[in-house]
Amino acid sequence: MHAEVIAIGDELTSGQRLDTNSRWMAAELGVLGIPVTFHTTVPDTLEAGIEAFRLAAGRADVVVVTGGLGPTADDLTRDVLAAVAGVPLDLSEEALVAVESRFTRRNAPMPESNRRQALFPRGSRIIPNPDGTAPGIDIDLDRAGGRCRVFSLPGVPSEMKRMWSDTVELALLGMMPGRVTIVQRRIKCFGAGESTVEAMLPDLIRRGRDPLVGITAHEATITLRIAARGRDEADCLAKIAPTEATIRECLGVIVYGVEDDEIEDATLAAVAADGGSVASVEVGTAGRVATLLAQAAARRATAGAFRGGIVLSQASSVDPRSLAERARREFDAAVGLGVGAVRPAADGRQAVDIAIATADGTTVTEHVLGGGLELAASRATKTALNLVRLQAAGSNRMGREPQA
Ligand code: AMP
Ligand code: MG
Repeated sequence: MHAEVIAIGDELTSGQRLDTNSRWMAAELGVLGIPVTFHTTVPDTLEAGIEAFRLAAGRADVVVVTGGLGPTADDLTRDVLAAVAGVPLDLSEEALVAVESRFTRRNAPMPESNRRQALFPRGSRIIPNPDGTAPGIDIDLDRAGGRCRVFSLPGVPSEMKRMWSDTVELALLGMMPGRVTIVQRRIKCFGAGESTVEAMLPDLIRRGRDPLVGITAHEATITLRIAARGRDEADCLAKIAPTEATIRECLGVIVYGVEDDEIEDATLAAVAADGGSVASVEVGTAGRVATLLAQAAARRATAGAFRGGIVLSQASSVDPRSLAERARREFDAAVGLGVGAVRPAADGRQAVDIAIATADGTTVTEHVLGGGLELAASRATKTALNLVRLQAAGSNRMGREPQA
């Protein structure tokens, strides 16, 4: 059994809004053990909708859909489903009562246009919507040699999620007797580029491997995603463990965390681990270092580990060594972090000097930043935080400078 996801809306295809529903539903399908083979995004037109559903119904067992169930003329999902199924739209008294009750509860008259939301393709089932006016549509589409079940939900993320867990999830479970579970684990890395990380791993990122390992990069942070299929969660976790161990062994200190951990979380955890503290004075990073450390301190309830930060303008030409020493002195911190100005380096790239001051002295290192001028401050920030992490973990043995 495999699934496809269809998202409907002009705001999605035009790029005005990010399609977060598809991502959420695909992850939920994965948890249920149903692999997703295609995601399709279409605008609010009859032709595009019909084409997308014909394709999906012709190759998938399940199609989950969001969007286009509203009362207005551009909400065409019900018309699309009726056209693809080759059936008329009937007024459902049950759905009409549900839609009307949303208005009577608010003491408002129901606009005539909302009657559309009670129209259902003949033979389809209603998916109740406890939080909104648009009920969902559950319909079987026939094809040569089988049928495809479609669950069509509204685009409003909170309504869609509630309807999913109230109704769709159970219907999906009922469709799969010998079901499997999929568990994902994300390993977060910083300090080497995507291709370097891939080269350090012994052929792990290979399609068809079990568990599967994927790699993605976002602003110099690399995420390795391990996905295992198994009988149950314990079975999946047992499969993930040796792969995670191999990754950690191959990448060493490049691995800084798991799941939603950000580099600043790892930095602060390392600083706080042996009762240490850190403070910063930054020039080229516009306060990002202090902001991220303050946010991480709040998230982790390790307020004492981040002592404070000072932000200086890019115009101040100060030696980073004195910045780090000032941070340490002024905030009485075990570690002082100084981030200098971002300046042009060779071949159009940017560079930054970062200093770390401790009781043992002060070290200054130069870092060339990839990714262009817009990303320079963000990369300089992460590079600085990573240096503090490595310093705190007592592991300045990377043998190579972090390449942001
Ligand atoms: P609709 O059900 O198409 O009228 O959408 C209602 C609201 O949900 C709008 O504000 C949309 O921007 C939002 N929305 C629709 N589809 C998605 C999606 N795939 N991801 C996130 N938000 C969405
Ligand atoms: Mg819409």
